[in-house]
Amino acid sequence: MNEKQYTAFNVLMNSAGVLTVSLDVTQRPMNVFTTEVIDELDHIITDIESRRDVKLVVFRSDKESGFLAGADVRAIANITGPSQAGRLIDAGQQLFHRIDHISVPTLAVIHGPCLGGGLEWALACDYRIARDNSSTKIGLPEIKLGLIPGWGGTQRLPRQIGLTQSLKMILQGKPVSAHAAAKIGLIDRAISPDDWEEGVRHFISEVLHARYRREVSMRQRMMHRLETSWLGSSMILHTTKKKIRHQEHQYPALGAAVRAIESGLQKQGAGYVTERSEFVKLLATPTCRNLLNLFFARESARNIKTWSTRDRADVHFHEIRRVGVIGAGAMGAGIGQFAATQGYEVAMREVDDQAAQEGRQRVEKLMKSYADRYRLPPSTRSELNQRIAVATDDDAIVLSDLVIEAAVERLDVKQEIFKHLGDLVAADCILATNTSSLSVDKIAGQTNRPERVAGLHFFNPVHRMELVEVVRGTRTDDDTVTRLVAFVRSLGKTPIVTKDAPGFLVNRVLFPYLGEAVLMFGEGYAPADIDRELRHFGMPMGPLELIDRVGVDIAMHVAGSLGDVLVGLDPVVDLLSLMVENGELGKKAGCGFYRYRDGKAVPRSEQTTVPMTVVDVNNRFALDGLNMVQRRLVYPMLAESVRCKEQQIVREDWMIDLGMVLATGFAPYRGGPLRVIDSIGAGVVNENMKQLEMIHGVRMRSPETLEAMAEAGTRFFVREGSIDSKDSETPRN
Ligand code: NAD
Repeated sequence: MNEKQYTAFNVLMNSAGVLTVSLDVTQRPMNVFTTEVIDELDHIITDIESRRDVKLVVFRSDKESGFLAGADVRAIANITGPSQAGRLIDAGQQLFHRIDHISVPTLAVIHGPCLGGGLEWALACDYRIARDNSSTKIGLPEIKLGLIPGWGGTQRLPRQIGLTQSLKMILQGKPVSAHAAAKIGLIDRAISPDDWEEGVRHFISEVLHARYRREVSMRQRMMHRLETSWLGSSMILHTTKKKIRHQEHQYPALGAAVRAIESGLQKQGAGYVTERSEFVKLLATPTCRNLLNLFFARESARNIKTWSTRDRADVHFHEIRRVGVIGAGAMGAGIGQFAATQGYEVAMREVDDQAAQEGRQRVEKLMKSYADRYRLPPSTRSELNQRIAVATDDDAIVLSDLVIEAAVERLDVKQEIFKHLGDLVAADCILATNTSSLSVDKIAGQTNRPERVAGLHFFNPVHRMELVEVVRGTRTDDDTVTRLVAFVRSLGKTPIVTKDAPGFLVNRVLFPYLGEAVLMFGEGYAPADIDRELRHFGMPMGPLELIDRVGVDIAMHVAGSLGDVLVGLDPVVDLLSLMVENGELGKKAGCGFYRYRDGKAVPRSEQTTVPMTVVDVNNRFALDGLNMVQRRLVYPMLAESVRCKEQQIVREDWMIDLGMVLATGFAPYRGGPLRVIDSIGAGVVNENMKQLEMIHGVRMRSPETLEAMAEAGTRFFVREGSIDSKDSETPRN
């Protein structure tokens, strides 16, 4: 029986008294909680509260894309003051409190993403079931935006799955699969996609007839007893606080989440008040603003319209169906394997049988860990493996819609390959190179189709690195760029379109920083001392650890290719070459800047090191919140970002920040290199660069744009109003 009409909901009652409330937010590809959706749900709940004919309420989504992706982030970012933020929290908390207290059983039926506010809604229900396939993702990712769950997530999740598991989910912000959710007791049942509708009906009938009993294992019962004891919970919270202590000043949401959870454990009801006030405070922090900006930048980069003049409807994501890959080495194997997992037919070509055999093994190894991670059945595994052919001839390559070259980093080899490919494949096939350092134009010039040649620069390891640089050569046409951007998106990755210039964007900005660390090492400083300071700055790992991870030989190659654009890299290349000659290739060789024992880095005992000073003893530098080591290493990266802007390596400033955060892990809470300049002030950075130039020479010269900005007192991005200054919170009763 059809119920009252709503814009975002379909409400349907059946003869057994099951009221199904299905969400379908119009004009959105994915359901999100907007103010209108909350208002409508509020009305629906009021209606349910007054009825006697309802026996069970089922909440689900009418969109195939998923249950609910969370609150509308744009609306959160647009909040102008604490009282507005408080009202948003109140609306959600009160609504979910009422759902929690509906007198008949409530059930959330989940498929696809069920994130943030989506999970908080589901947690307010008595039961949750989910479709057990790879698109189902259940979690509270607010921490990634510098926030905490504000609609009861910090209170209901610990009650549902215990303290240890909920701390993990909230502090890491990582979603879990339906299978994992069932295992930790977050959902009642994970249902196979083949059995989905029948499985849902069956579960509803069990609940309706009071035949369903939640199974709690002995282990879960014991854990529950331990975690709810005063001693147990105190110990868990103590250990967690110790663990997050060093990150808390960069990511204040970590501490806020723990406080909200702890307060909920201490006093029923108090946790919601803490959750609310912590959320409101976090929204005003620079970390939250920077993470929100990165979120929007990422959304823009993932939107084809940002890169293309063509309408999205015209871009057929699968117009590329068959992908050829030249070279099945570290990168080729990674690209081929990943493309196959995303539905592409992949043909790979190697130089000889031995190389093909090794390439096949690389692909199979990657595929096995992928299949294990997603618990794929044997039939899907073999289907995936069958999508990739590795051969030494061109028979399969010839059919490709896109060929990605990932052979050795030599211009003559690549030119030869491209010339051959141009004569081989169909006229509209795109040819792309994965080169890190060679000129796309020089490669394209060898072909009969320079307009359909571009760079497609994946990072290592391919399956984990989200960013792909799409490099537009001088003659690359719009259609080729659009198709490549669409291809990158179809892989689930984020594209940044760059100009064809040495190092493109990421390596060019990164290498002045890596180079400076190599020079410091040459001056006798201990790698561990250097790396520690940069981790404190907010990098996921220090620069020398990073070079060891990437490979000293690869770093040497890239540094060597950047001589035309970067000043002062010669001694860096010399030092790296020496290490390569000695076989010190980094982690893969067991020795680089560190020595590796069982995969763990230990200092090289034969090196004598000099003590490092981080304090500006001569007071030469204007205050910027950095110490001497951080300043020496980070400023060259800031300066190079400005030069990339000057030379229009990318079209807009945010692309520089996003690219550096996604590809190098550049301290996300700082928002990216250009936002760092904005937060320190162009004047201070410029002044300090002059000091650095006096000490270290011309490689530290401040870019002209920075000088001009210092003089004019301008910034890269508009200043965001501080939300606490706009209005003040009125006390709540
Ligand atoms: P690799 O040495 O591991 O693999 C190169 C493979 O190409 C080898 O298996 C080789 O047999 C094969 N090959 C050489 N000439 C060939 C030809 N004519 N036809 C077919 N196959 C041929 O190198 P890699 O690390 O995978 O790098 C490949 C490309 O990717 C390079 O251009 C490199 O600059 C770039 N890249 C590497 C990384 C990285 O971290 N390794 C990151 C980004 C980009």
